[in-house]
Amino acid sequence: MSLNTSNSNYFQQMTPKKLVEITIKKGQGQLTNSGSLAINTGKFTGRSPKDRFIVEEDITKGVLNWGEINISISSENYRKLKDDILKYLEGKEIYTRFANAGALKKYQLRLEVITEYAWSNLFAYNMFIRPEEKELENFRKDWTIIDAPGFMADPGVHGTRQSNFAILSFSEKTVLIGGTGYTGEIKKGIFSALNFILPTEHDVLPMHCSANVGKNKDTAIFFGLSGTGKTTLSADPNRKLVGDDEHGWTPEGQIFNFEGGCYAKVIDLDKKSEPDIYNAIHVGALLENVIIKNGEVDFKDISITQNTRVSYPINHIDNIQVPSVGENPENIFFLTADAFGVLPPVSKLTKNQAAYHFISGYTSKIAGTEAGINEPVPSFSACFGEPFMPLHPTIYAEMLSEKIERSDANVWLINTGWTGGAYGVGSRIKLEYTRAMVNAILDGKLDKTYSYEKYHIHSVFGVAQPRSCPGVPDKVLSPRATWDNDEAYYTAAFKLSNAFRINFAKFESYANEEIRRGGPQRFDF
Ligand code: ATP
Ligand code: MN
Repeated sequence: MSLNTSNSNYFQQMTPKKLVEITIKKGQGQLTNSGSLAINTGKFTGRSPKDRFIVEEDITKGVLNWGEINISISSENYRKLKDDILKYLEGKEIYTRFANAGALKKYQLRLEVITEYAWSNLFAYNMFIRPEEKELENFRKDWTIIDAPGFMADPGVHGTRQSNFAILSFSEKTVLIGGTGYTGEIKKGIFSALNFILPTEHDVLPMHCSANVGKNKDTAIFFGLSGTGKTTLSADPNRKLVGDDEHGWTPEGQIFNFEGGCYAKVIDLDKKSEPDIYNAIHVGALLENVIIKNGEVDFKDISITQNTRVSYPINHIDNIQVPSVGENPENIFFLTADAFGVLPPVSKLTKNQAAYHFISGYTSKIAGTEAGINEPVPSFSACFGEPFMPLHPTIYAEMLSEKIERSDANVWLINTGWTGGAYGVGSRIKLEYTRAMVNAILDGKLDKTYSYEKYHIHSVFGVAQPRSCPGVPDKVLSPRATWDNDEAYYTAAFKLSNAFRINFAKFESYANEEIRRGGPQRFDF
């Protein structure tokens, strides 16, 4: 069964303006004073990882890293679900759009995004790459996304966990989304597809990272889990933005964006400290789950969710790289928001430490992008994006190590989390300081090689902590110094290093001795 395209209520390739009009006419959203559209995504204001399934079929069966992250569902259940969604959409006004994923033609996926709501289609317009007019004439899609927030699955009939789901079928090249209006499911569905296709078919490493390039064409990439600062730190007026969240690293030595837009958190958004993102919010931008007072967005009001968001096409940012492609990165940042306040705000990693930290993917969850997480908890997510990685994490980790080796990129660990104590005692490190550290590195002001004069080796984590950095007080660079209580500091540090080792146990058999030595409390600089 396929979608009946003769349906008179089938709206194709609508302009953003029209999608906004329809949304407002249907009472599903409102315009803000900036001209952007604000909508509510409904019950779900974050992704729901426990309801993300992949169809178990010939292509995926023996290849996927099945488990609690890549949850399997049968072809029969997938089929029933698809039939029922199509029946549900039959006769409704629906919105379809052709779009691309992947800035390099060679690695691009052509998509058709079919949505029940006009605003979900606006999200697809903002976030995917917009095909040129002439591409649309003979557009042959590879993948289809069907997004029906109003359709509720029946776990007894469809084999889902509850009424909401996001399901990928690699044989059908389809993503089915239902029971949730959270737009992030649309982009992360295709990200997951690419994370399987690119390494297995093209030897391209897919990465959950942002990227930008400097005046000398030097590329920087920023890995990190949700809320660690990928979007924030890559939006830098002095560098051209390549992309916000998802990139590939090709065998030819290029970094390319998968997307055509940015999806930024707007909690506490401040014009002064984040001007690029603030100024991008105008006509065409789609705000999610924010509170509006007299037409103005109150970015401090998180009464719906802490995960308030905005999506906009990448050209809403002034300084962008066109096309969204950069060269081999010179600097790679691993961002972590450490709520223990233990990790140094900036440190240089050896190649082994880089491999160790990439597989570990440490951060502390703060304020949920995922349903049900509101308290800070330490969290490990391999490759800084395990929920989106269908293959075993070590496959991506090996590819990254090999690429770091070949390109001789420098890897830095940036703690954008707590300083002066753990969450509750200390405070989040000032964005101004983090930016100063990142800029110092990008401007070549922090040495790339170890020397005692320039670096202190952290006694628990073994990473090289700079003794000074332009724009940052020396004391801030030493987490121990900011605590003013050595005993409490080391107790917390060992607690965290223990958590690292317990988590790493599951990768131990894959990691060689060198990578293992990249872990805490070892010296192999
Ligand atoms: P996602 O994967 O969910 O898109 P992300 O890695 O892009 O997450 P950001 O959207 O950049 O994360 O979120 C970082 C948040 O933390 C922003 O709201 C930013 O203002 C805030 N923040 C506070 N202090 C810092 C800091 N020192 N460095 C970076 N971000 C900070
Ligand atoms: Mn982001």
